[in-house]
Amino acid sequence: MKKVLIANRGEIARRIIETCKKLHIETVAIYAEADAELPYVKEADSAFLIGPSQVQQSYLKVDDILALAKREGVDAIHPGYGLLSENASFARKIEEEGMIFIGPKPETIDKMGDKIGSRQTMQAAGVPVVPGTDEGVLTLEDALEEARRIGYPIMLKASSGGGGIGMIRCDDEQALSQNFVSVKTRAKAYFGDDVVFLEKYISGGRHIEVQIFGDTQGNIVHLFERNCSVQRRNQKVIEESPSPNFPQAAREKLLQAAVDAAKAVNYRNAGTVEFIVDENNDFYFLEMNTRLQVEHPVTEAVTGFDLVEWQLQVAKGESLPIINQSEIQSSGHALEFRIYAEDPKTFFPSPGKISRLDWGSLEGIRIDAGYEEGNSVTPFYDPMIAKVIIQSDSREQAVKKAQQFFSSVTIEGVKTNVALFQQFLGADAFMNGTYTTAVLPQWLEQQKEEK
Ligand code: ADP
Ligand code: ADP
Ligand code: MG
Repeated sequence: MKKVLIANRGEIARRIIETCKKLHIETVAIYAEADAELPYVKEADSAFLIGPSQVQQSYLKVDDILALAKREGVDAIHPGYGLLSENASFARKIEEEGMIFIGPKPETIDKMGDKIGSRQTMQAAGVPVVPGTDEGVLTLEDALEEARRIGYPIMLKASSGGGGIGMIRCDDEQALSQNFVSVKTRAKAYFGDDVVFLEKYISGGRHIEVQIFGDTQGNIVHLFERNCSVQRRNQKVIEESPSPNFPQAAREKLLQAAVDAAKAVNYRNAGTVEFIVDENNDFYFLEMNTRLQVEHPVTEAVTGFDLVEWQLQVAKGESLPIINQSEIQSSGHALEFRIYAEDPKTFFPSPGKISRLDWGSLEGIRIDAGYEEGNSVTPFYDPMIAKVIIQSDSREQAVKKAQQFFSSVTIEGVKTNVALFQQFLGADAFMNGTYTTAVLPQWLEQQKEEK
């Protein structure tokens, strides 16, 4: 593999370029008008304007990206996360053109992209799924009947949803009746598909996911778990590994279930199996993300591996760098924080020019940033500025290091969630490690009441 095109932007494009540089692979970046000044555009060996700022006219233009890739003679395309990363037809077209798609087989993307279908596949493979409907619910009457069977609270979900979009918790019939049509409409608008289904809402649950990896020879390994329960709008903001408050026996069962899940679909390349874990440490399959995950650095920190390097190696048709599960070890503790240009009270994006960006002391800290001082966060894309990854021997030390780090960061020009992290890190609810997916909203509510 000599030349790779990165069909993405921001921090993940930069992250992929870094590994390609290390492996002496040439990189081709694409950028939309709004991103012309971003660091990844300069860091790639070559970069091409792909269109105006809107994603539909730039990063999602499959045929233009393919034409560019062919013209530039690239061997492979890395889709990053979000955008086209879980678009099976994009993956298929790349392979039809004789190039390599750095990801799973298009059939796997299809199979796992649909939440209802993936639940069926996992059930057949003996992996526990959240109790719910086996098929889509077409009418409100059906939904009400199914919800009576499952029992409230329920989660009303779009089968094609992602990024926390297209789902809502309903505590009773009235809530379900109120939300049924709007979730369908939203799903149609965001994902082009209005199929919805119901799951039991797992109260007091934790989001724990497993990084898995497969190769074309059929080897499958896991790289341990990540707890991603600190969320807002059902989307992660802090992730950590190992998961605190998770007994070893339960962990081993979960890791095995993830490997079983990957084997059931003959999985190739990097993937993540997401579970919701209840108070008794019983776990249920939520979904499988068939791509590199935003929070993959947490796993890199505790295992010491470069997951993008693993992706490239597997994509070339070589076997996994390590096939023997027992040779994959996790040591120490790692935390990742997603720094967003957003209003910390409403979580609405806060686009604008980053007039000042000073990370302070960076000793032992990894920053994966999409922007540098002087760049603008525009309203066209996800407003994540950077990810901060902090590793230490123990969770306690990692948290302490994070507190020190956040007290030295200065970001001006846009609102961010930095101050929120600083306060939240000191809260007992996070410190004691027993937190659930409700921890952040609950803590914020409490802060308001105390004022
Ligand atoms: P992960 O599962 O890797 O933690 P997320 O679910 O947060 O990642 O989503 C990955 C990225 O893709 C984020 O930047 C998110 O904003 C974006 N994303 C995911 N799904 C959508 C979508 N349907 N529409 C817009 N952006 C999305
Ligand atoms: P997405 O594709 O948007 O990432 P997921 O199904 O992975 O959707 O769910 C995202 C988050 O929503 C989970 O991490 C969890 O916090 C919450 N969630 C989803 N389903 C349930 C459920 N059945 N019970 C409780 N929480 C849930
Ligand atoms: Mg998810």
